[in-house]
Amino acid sequence: MPIATRAFAAVAADRPLEPYSFERRDPGPDDVAIDVKFCGVCHSDLHVAHNDLGNTRYPIVPGHEVAGVVSAVGANVTKFKVGDRVGVGCMVDSCRTCAPCREGEEQYCVPGMTQTYGSADPKGGPVNQTITQGGYSDHITVDQNYVLSIPDSIPLDAAAPLLCAGITTYSPLKHWKIGPGSRVAVVGLGGLGHMAVKQAAAMGAEVTVISTSDRKKADAERMGAKHFLINTDKAAMAAAAESFNLIINTVSATHEIAGQVQLLAKDGTMVMLGLTTEGLPVYAMGLLWRRRSVAGSLIGGIRETQEMLDFCAANAIACDVEVIAPDRINEAYERMGKSDVRYRFVLDMARL
Ligand code: NAP
Ligand code: ZN
Ligand code: ZN
Repeated sequence: MPIATRAFAAVAADRPLEPYSFERRDPGPDDVAIDVKFCGVCHSDLHVAHNDLGNTRYPIVPGHEVAGVVSAVGANVTKFKVGDRVGVGCMVDSCRTCAPCREGEEQYCVPGMTQTYGSADPKGGPVNQTITQGGYSDHITVDQNYVLSIPDSIPLDAAAPLLCAGITTYSPLKHWKIGPGSRVAVVGLGGLGHMAVKQAAAMGAEVTVISTSDRKKADAERMGAKHFLINTDKAAMAAAAESFNLIINTVSATHEIAGQVQLLAKDGTMVMLGLTTEGLPVYAMGLLWRRRSVAGSLIGGIRETQEMLDFCAANAIACDVEVIAPDRINEAYERMGKSDVRYRFVLDMARL
């Protein structure tokens, strides 16, 4: 029997999200059926709902920071049992045979990962669903290989945003080998930014936040930042020149980055995480003079996501969340558009 599912969906770029019903597939042999308890609200959801990337197919149920409890498992499922606390992030499948998939970096799958929402559904989809639909919903069915285990010490609401925000910052911090002695700057203190600060500080780095105002300064320090810069403060920005080994840029909008490149030390890297679609000029002189790099990074693989969850549990890291009823999603998007988020909205699906 397909699983009747209630959700909130975007139906057009210029319309508020609205209640939506559809059916999830009954768990197949390798599937885990999950009762969604909480779903984080990522800025990518807003980009997709508003069709910022130009490829949204409506109606779309956003949500890829899913935390819930297993309600049923298929015959081949060995990793999970009914009652387990589990999470689902940005992908629900991938080809499993290409080099990145074999190396555990399924997010870079060559033919393309199956995203949690908005991808063609390789499992044929439930009755009225030809593309995957995300976690702003009360049920989801996912192959066991793409389901994560949430450590007992992290409450489900504060764990949900780890499934995207948490892994998206953890992966570059690990890739660029951040540890004691590293100097890391985090640009933008939103959902991703606040995870980057907590994780980098726990790895032993000296962390600086670069923000658009001083509104979040006290929070940044509480999260582990040693320094706080306002991006329009020319004197403070000039004084910070050549100081960072890694800049984690989480800004969700087009902005000037050439000046930020000057903040990198020799061999430093600025990693771009925001899904901006316009060109952001950088200049060769700024790069070559100190062998600097500008890079990008996309979420993280399944194995690394589990490692990140366990790292967060071991270091008492969780997300700072504002838990809301799903019918307040449009208000959350409006506030997110104004950077008025501390530091992740999370939908409580019990209040659907
Ligand atoms: P968020 O919570 O809205 O935070 C974004 C932050 O960027 C804001 O809090 C603000 O920080 C800063 N900001 C916003 N507009 C700005 C502007 N015009 N100039 C300078 N700073 C600005 O968003 P999020 O959920 O963290 O996501 C951030 C971006 O990453 C989004 O584009 C999202 O789609 C993308 N993303 C990428 C991946 C990936 O795999 N690469 C994964 C998840 C999300 P302050 O208040 O401190 O100024
Ligand atoms: Zn996301
Ligand atoms: Zn693949």
